[in-house]
Amino acid sequence: MSFSENGKVFLIGAGPGDPELMTLKAARALHLADVVLVDDLVNRGCLAHARSDAKVIEVGKRGGYASTPQVFIEKLMIQYAKAGNTVARLKGGDPFVFGRGGEELQALAAEGIDVEIIPGVTAGLGVPAALGIPVTHRGVASGVTFITGHMQEGAEPGSEPRSEPGIQPNWEALARSGTTLVIYMGLRRLEEICGALMAAGMKPETPACAIENGTLRSQREVVGTLRDLAREVLNQKIAGPAIVVIGDVVRFSRVKARLPARRAA
Ligand code: SAH
Repeated sequence: MSFSENGKVFLIGAGPGDPELMTLKAARALHLADVVLVDDLVNRGCLAHARSDAKVIEVGKRGGYASTPQVFIEKLMIQYAKAGNTVARLKGGDPFVFGRGGEELQALAAEGIDVEIIPGVTAGLGVPAALGIPVTHRGVASGVTFITGHMQEGAEPGSEPRSEPGIQPNWEALARSGTTLVIYMGLRRLEEICGALMAAGMKPETPACAIENGTLRSQREVVGTLRDLAREVLNQKIAGPAIVVIGDVVRFSRVKARLPARRAA
């Protein structure tokens, strides 16, 4: 037959940062790829699993910075796959958690391209774990809710453009949920978010933290309470990418909340 067969696309989660938190399956798929499209949130150490002859294309999408439009990324994948290549689309965390993986899957499926999803450790799980924070804990938090704090234009660096314009979290319902709240892309609106939760009845003393560059050597964290988190994040110049965790489980953090310095007696 003279027509060429479509290649295949792997939509791969690279994990939250530390390249060792990638799955074995992700590493194997990367090694199969002729073309690798990589997001800028992905640690470059993950590319060690790509073949040296693979074509690596950076498709950074940092909010507020030079970025590659989503449609263009989808076109690139389709084009390379239709030319018979094995394509690896490498995304931070998990491709289906605030990663627009669903949209990419739809675009590829509409072209009849075979797609395999390889899940990754999402930042909302892997980053709190780096501080020893369990997102659920018997008797403390009966569940966990993943939320994006990024509803408007102008994301923090390291975040991705919003995919659902106009959808605002219901802070009242979240404040009452009794679940740990894990907020992605929440730095820019942190003051507003914490204020909304307190206005909805969440105690100002609720333990809360923000973790920047989680699982990486450059990790920094601010551990405090709902009342003071936004101010401390500003003081410490936490700039993102960062995960915010709100709830009693934050008490388990290896790094303890900083108490105001005691005056010498
Ligand atoms: N698909 C990704 C999330 C993409 S949205 C996942 O499943 O993890 C990008 C947001 O993820 C960032 O703005 C930040 O809130 C969070 N994030 C990603 N990597 C992070 C890291 N190493 N440390 C802290 N937050 C991180």
